[in-house]
Amino acid sequence: MWDEVRTFIDEHDSFLVTTHIFPDGDAIGSELALARALRKLGKRALVVNEHPTPRTYEFLDPDGSIKTYTEDLDDRIARCTGAFVLDVGSLERLGNVGPALERAGPPTACIDHHKTNGGFADVNVIDPRAASTGELIYDLVRALDVPVTRGIADALFIATATDTGWFRFPNTSPRVHRMAADLIELGVEPARIYAAIHETDRWERMELVKRVLGTLEGAADGRIAYFYLTNAMLEETGATEEDAEELTDLPRPIEAVQLILFFRETRGKIKVSMRSKDGPPVDTLAGKYGGGGHARAAGILMEGELADVMNTIVDEAKALLDSGGR
Ligand code: AMP
Ligand code: MN
Ligand code: MN
Repeated sequence: MWDEVRTFIDEHDSFLVTTHIFPDGDAIGSELALARALRKLGKRALVVNEHPTPRTYEFLDPDGSIKTYTEDLDDRIARCTGAFVLDVGSLERLGNVGPALERAGPPTACIDHHKTNGGFADVNVIDPRAASTGELIYDLVRALDVPVTRGIADALFIATATDTGWFRFPNTSPRVHRMAADLIELGVEPARIYAAIHETDRWERMELVKRVLGTLEGAADGRIAYFYLTNAMLEETGATEEDAEELTDLPRPIEAVQLILFFRETRGKIKVSMRSKDGPPVDTLAGKYGGGGHARAAGILMEGELADVMNTIVDEAKALLDSGGR
């Protein structure tokens, strides 16, 4: 599986590494692990993302090696002769890094686990059975015979822990637990990592949670939970855009809930986050409105007013439940 990637690495000395907008734990962890492995092989690696590293993951990158894209970086990007695109199903999801990459024009390799990934790169390793991109990077690092340093192990643990909801979601396979066990043997401290990511919120974020939960409604006999976040809530609470991440799972504890829909005003658009607990897959519905994702977690960025988008998507979700997901 890794021969082509190995050749790709052999052929180049200097790599750009990038991932999707609003990077999550899998995105950041996969990038850092791969960049660190490339450097172990004597290669140069420049990690550039459209959006800054969320505050909760900064501890993983104490030197600030991950750069946030500005045009000033174009020269450095142009000097990279190969590019790795991680945890992302299409170039559109790279924000301004996508066009920058196209201008520079290096050959690309994509490592990803999105089913919707059509293989847009020159070298593609797409495995939807993998719970996280980090799981694939772990495989690659071992195939390359690179020692799994503590820095690589921490990054990969975060990638797999976050994309499996800390080993709760149905994508949590034996392979996930074996990988986690290996990484813990290499020194990873799960309790410390959990606390660093999930027990470091500011009061402002909890104020935001209070507001957001105030909007929670049920539909389809309580099988759909939907709720929203407005720009005004951010202003009132002093919470940041980043505080607005990872709120989608809040209604998950409700037994009756099969589908969760979270609507969020962001930069003149509406971001829809969809989760299917034990309901029908949501990636097809996301795809119908130009979004994408996985069967159990998908998203869309939509134009329009919050109320209209909410009406449209809640109706779609009801129809999806009625059709039994067909
Ligand atoms: P989120 O709700 O942002 O946590 O996103 C859940 C999943 O949906 C992500 O892992 C992405 O794979 C996918 N996703 C979210 N937003 C989009 C989008 N606008 N276009 C395509 N895929 C998306
Ligand atoms: Mn991701
Ligand atoms: Mn992922």
